[in-house]
Amino acid sequence: MFNVLKTLFENKCPLCNEKLHVHNDALCATKACSQCHYKEESYGSLGVRIVYDTTK
Ligand SMILES: [Zn+2]
Repeated sequence: MFNVLKTLFENKCPLCNEKLHVHNDALCATKACSQCHYKEESYGSLGVRIVYDTTK
């Protein structure tokens, strides 16, 4: 369980293990791999998290 949580909070691309680029603005927080393998958008005010995982 602890390992799962740790993985969720690590800002690394699941495919190439590169550090994700984090962008925050008023509406959402975005994390993205520089090689477009992975992208995650979090809308804190809505409680919504969208993950685009192109490795699947
Ligand atoms: Zn990547």
